[in-house]
Amino acid sequence: MPRRRIIPVFVPHMGCPHQCVFCDQRQISGAQAPVTAAQLRAILDAALSQSGAGAELAFYGGSFTAIGEADQVSLLEAAQPYLRAGHLFALRCSTRPDCIDESVIARLRRYGMQTVELGCQSMNDEVLRRSGRGHTALDCEHAIALLKSHGFSVVAQLMTGLPGSSDATDLESAERIAALHPDGVRIYPTVVVEGTPLAAMYQRGIYSPQALESAVNLCARMWELFRYEEIPVLRVGLNPSESLHNAVLAGPYHPAFGELVLGRMYYNLAKPLLAPHRGADTITLCVAPRAVSRMVGQKKTNLRALEQEFSIKSIKISAEPLEEWEIRLQTEGNTGIVDRIDR
Ligand code: SF4
Repeated sequence: MPRRRIIPVFVPHMGCPHQCVFCDQRQISGAQAPVTAAQLRAILDAALSQSGAGAELAFYGGSFTAIGEADQVSLLEAAQPYLRAGHLFALRCSTRPDCIDESVIARLRRYGMQTVELGCQSMNDEVLRRSGRGHTALDCEHAIALLKSHGFSVVAQLMTGLPGSSDATDLESAERIAALHPDGVRIYPTVVVEGTPLAAMYQRGIYSPQALESAVNLCARMWELFRYEEIPVLRVGLNPSESLHNAVLAGPYHPAFGELVLGRMYYNLAKPLLAPHRGADTITLCVAPRAVSRMVGQKKTNLRALEQEFSIKSIKISAEPLEEWEIRLQTEGNTGIVDRIDR
């Protein structure tokens, strides 16, 4: 899926019929009040005046298709002149799997919606129930199939560390979502946000959040699974914002969570390459220029851990014109490629 310039407009809790235990959309999206059609026009005018290039408008933050029909249509209609003029080339929205049906799809198509992001969160019904989601895994399957059959791009959102979940249930959720072939996925580790039901559960000791390290490991395995299935992972970890930063009580929140996960994936990929060279003096790992910091790890943690694990005196990293995910290994005195991983 190519990267596009997205103008995000947040519709916090507008139309949302539920209270998921982890959710305070007003904090997470940084927005406090529902957007009106007039405000939407002002947002678009301001965003589009900064760049002549077209953009995609995204209704994020709530359950767009659960908004009252009149409000939904008023927002969609406000976007139409920008679409007709070519200033916007597409619309996308996020919503719940149980807020998609034939009539919703007809409306979205009529107004030029192309991509729907579905908050699936888990494919385990017990986890969904304990998280207050109010829908089932079957709802996710139906919604994805219906949207795809009508030609929409579908992005599935998953969460790790929800109440009642484990690494096994989260990995199984990733496998079930991958089997539905969405056009992209986002993975969010659960964090405890002040004022949410999850915060009360945490304070009463009936919910324990994932440790940062565990969440990074699990998300790396999930990302690897999607990468293997050639399903793009569009984001891992919540968008950092000041309001969210101030509201997080506990859990694996890190402003560069995605980079931590990418670092772990490179670490995992390098291990089988290094295993036959245990005890070597110097090893050079060659990676693409943009992968150097990921291979090195934050504060060189990957290098130091790999040196220790394989008793290698010194591991060096070299930027080479390689593909993303490609790692080549050179040993001292042998500048040729002695081994590579590019899966
Ligand atoms: S459905 Fe979405 S907006 Fe509504 S409470 Fe759950 S996470 Fe929040």
